[in-house]
Amino acid sequence: MALGCNDLPMRLTFTLLFAFGVFLSSGQQMNQDSAMVRQIYDEVLANAEAHDNLHYLCKEIGHRLSGSPQLENAIYWGKELLENYGADNVFLQPVMVPKWTRGEQETAHMHVGEEAERIRITALGGSIGTGGTIKAPVIEVKYLEDLDTLGREAVEGKIVLFNRPMDPLLINTGMAYGGAYDQRSYGASKAAEYGAVGALVRSLTHAVDTFPHTGAMRYQEDIPRIPAAGISTVDARKIKLALKEGKEVEVSMNMNCVAYDDVEQFNVIAEIKGSEFPDEYIVVGGHLDSWDIGEGAHDDGAGIVQSIEVLRTLKALNYTPKRTIRVVLFINEENGNNGGKTYAAVAKDQSDFHFAAIESDSGGFSPRGFSIEGDDEGYDSLKEWVGVLEPYGIHVARRGWSGVDIRPLKNDEVLLFGLVPDNQRYFDYHHSNNDIWENVNRRELHLGAASMASLVYFLDNL
Ligand SMILES: [Zn+2]
Repeated sequence: MALGCNDLPMRLTFTLLFAFGVFLSSGQQMNQDSAMVRQIYDEVLANAEAHDNLHYLCKEIGHRLSGSPQLENAIYWGKELLENYGADNVFLQPVMVPKWTRGEQETAHMHVGEEAERIRITALGGSIGTGGTIKAPVIEVKYLEDLDTLGREAVEGKIVLFNRPMDPLLINTGMAYGGAYDQRSYGASKAAEYGAVGALVRSLTHAVDTFPHTGAMRYQEDIPRIPAAGISTVDARKIKLALKEGKEVEVSMNMNCVAYDDVEQFNVIAEIKGSEFPDEYIVVGGHLDSWDIGEGAHDDGAGIVQSIEVLRTLKALNYTPKRTIRVVLFINEENGNNGGKTYAAVAKDQSDFHFAAIESDSGGFSPRGFSIEGDDEGYDSLKEWVGVLEPYGIHVARRGWSGVDIRPLKNDEVLLFGLVPDNQRYFDYHHSNNDIWENVNRRELHLGAASMASLVYFLDNL
C-alpha cells in the first residue's frame, strides 16, 4: 500500500512513539545499571576484604609455585574463604602440574682479572642446576639471531648474556614484555646449540635495579640443556660496560634446581547458581600459583582476591544472578597453564556452556577498562558498559588479549575479557622478590574488584 500525504503525520507519530519508547526503555535500563553499579562500588569501597585476604595469602602462605606445599595451603585457604562468603557450591578440580624446585639460593660473581664482584641472578623456572659451580667467559648478544652470526667459534664454552631491554617506547608495557620474552623462553637452547655452557637473561623489566626476575623457560628437544638464570638490570649493565671497555669478563654461577615428576593439585571452583539459566556460566578468575620468589602479590594474588571479592560483593548485595557465576582460582599458570587447559577440557567434555569469562592477571593497579576477545556484538556491548563505568575512571574498551587461564575456553560463542589496569609499574615487580603485598595499593586493588563485579553484572543481564 502506498502512503498518501495524510498518512505522513500518522507515520511520523508512530516513528516518534517508537523512538521515544526505545529511548525510555534503554534509558530505564541505563538508570537501573547505573544504580546497580553504584551499589557495587559502595559495597566494595566500604566493606571489601580483598586487600586483607591478599595479606594473608602473601604473608601467611607466601609464594606458591606449582607442586609446592604453599600452593596446597593456598588451595584449601581459597576453598574455605569462598565457602565462608556463601558460595552455593565449592569444589576442587584435579590438575596434574610440574614440580620444580630452586633448591638452595643461587649465587653468582662477575670476574674481571683478579677482582670478583657479586651479581644478582635467579634461576629461570625449569632450568637445570649447575652441578657445582661453573665459570666461563661471557659474551653479550641482543637478539637470538646474533648467535647465528657469531657462530660456534665465538660461543662455545661461554656463558651468553641476552641483554636486549624491553622497548621503552611502547606505552603498553605488556607489549614491551612480549617483545623481549623470547630471550628468556628460548635463549638457553639457542645458546646451547652453539656450545654455550650457560645463559643469563636480562630481567624483563623497565626498572634499573638489583632485583633479578624469574619466569618460565623451555628447553628444545635434541639440544643439550644448559643452566639459565635471570640477571638484574643493574648487573647486566655492569657486565655490558666492562665488555665495552674491552675487558675479559668471566661469570661464575651456582644453581641447585631439581625437576621432579608431575604431581596432582587442584583448581578451586565456587558457584553462585543462576536462577534463570543455571547451565550458562560466567567465569571470573585469576591464578593462584605464583613463582617461588617474592609473594606473588600482583602476579596474581591480586586477581585471586579480586575474583573472590566479586563473589563476596554479589552475596553481600543479595544479588541473585540469572546465569551461574563461577569464581575459578586456576593453578599452574606460570609454568604450564595446566589449570586453564584442564578447566577448558573438562568443560568441553561435559558440554558446559560458557557464556563469558573474565580474568584479572595484569596486577592490582588502578583499573582502566577491559579487553575483549569475542564477536562484534560483544565488543559493542563492552563499549556501552564502559560508558556506564566512566564516572569510576574506566575508559578502555579494546579488542585484545584476555588471559592465559581463560584463553583455552576460546570458541566462537564465548566472550573473554581481561581486566586492564594501569600497567606502567607492573613489570617492576613481576616474577621478582619485589612482588610483595606492600606494593599493592588497597584502594586500587578494590576499584579493580568493583569494576570486575560490575562487568559480571552487565554480562549476567545481557
Ligand atoms: Zn600472572
